[in-house]
Amino acid sequence: MQDFIYSSPASRVIFGAGSLRHVIREIDLLGAGRAIVLSTPEQRADADHVAAMIGERCAGIFDRAVMHVPIETARQARELARQVNADCAIAIGGGSTTGLGKAIALESPLPILAIPTTYAGSEMTPIYGITEAGLKKTGRDMRVLPKTVIYDPELTVGLPTSLSATSGINAIAHAAEGLYAQDANPIISLFAEEGIRALAQGLPAVLANPSDMEARSQCLYGAWLCGTVLGSVGMALHHKLCHTLGGTYNLPHAETHTVVLPHALAYNAAAAPDAMKRIAKALGGANASQAVYDLAKALNAPLSLKEIGMPEGEIDRCVEIAMQNAYANPRPLEKAALRRLLDDAFHGRRPA
Ligand code: NAD
Repeated sequence: MQDFIYSSPASRVIFGAGSLRHVIREIDLLGAGRAIVLSTPEQRADADHVAAMIGERCAGIFDRAVMHVPIETARQARELARQVNADCAIAIGGGSTTGLGKAIALESPLPILAIPTTYAGSEMTPIYGITEAGLKKTGRDMRVLPKTVIYDPELTVGLPTSLSATSGINAIAHAAEGLYAQDANPIISLFAEEGIRALAQGLPAVLANPSDMEARSQCLYGAWLCGTVLGSVGMALHHKLCHTLGGTYNLPHAETHTVVLPHALAYNAAAAPDAMKRIAKALGGANASQAVYDLAKALNAPLSLKEIGMPEGEIDRCVEIAMQNAYANPRPLEKAALRRLLDDAFHGRRPA
């Protein structure tokens, strides 16, 4: 067995249908009494619901979270938190809202109580991102890791099936890359395999019936495990490519992950055979990259970069950007092969 280092992130997790009812207990356990509730404009009703549940413990609502955490939004939210004298922040929503909570925690001692409603997994990571002058800066800081996470599958019933599918494959991407991470360890690999398995079982059932609570629970459980993988070990080619594509062409986050993952796995297949075996097994297939592609197709998710808004004729530029930063990956970065990867992803071809 390979030597390894395992360190456990310190979040407290409350999981189960209806577990939002414990929110007051959890605020009290944080030693807090005045919460600022964060959401996107689209999820204002969820924020209002939490505010009504916690009554006098609600110090205010900030409902302007948006994708990629613009610095101006982060400043406005921090200012409101200061004005209302908040001593904790409740982030109810997906990665965008959790990200706003993290931006607040980065510059203040406010603990974050996260209530995730997508499968992105940000709530289990110490990774933050803030966008300033069009440039997204990301970093790791343990201060931004939410102290408490309430996973209530009932809150995910309204997640549209299209976003459920792509967000779920976004989560699978964390686990897949975690299995071949340079700093992989056996505990996190168990999380990764179980996370993929739970999502691969849950997602088709969610598509068949979005209110199926058992299926929603499976998916959120898988998202938690996959998020833990993302927060614990280093990501590689797939995440770097998605970051580049998303940032350069403003492509939607979960959809980009969905399209690129089969091709990133095909690129790394020969260099990480054990990880591929585990990914394929968890997906119930024989070949990891094809099994991810087939899952996306069965879930009616987008399969090509073209259909999610990447302009024609940009592949060479993208390869150049991807080659600029060195990072750990099972297979070295090879220009011609990367070009093929992106061309396949652009056109949505099934990996060979
Ligand atoms: P999102 O948070 O942007 O949500 C997308 C839309 O869906 C929003 O309008 C949101 O309000 C809505 N929504 C969310 N849950 C819903 C529900 N249950 N019902 C109805 N509508 C719902 O999307 P996301 O994919 O969760 O997050 C993407 C962002 O998170 C990106 O900026 C990405 O970079 C970041 N992210 C960060 C990390 C990290 O570790 N730092 C990890 C994953 C993602």
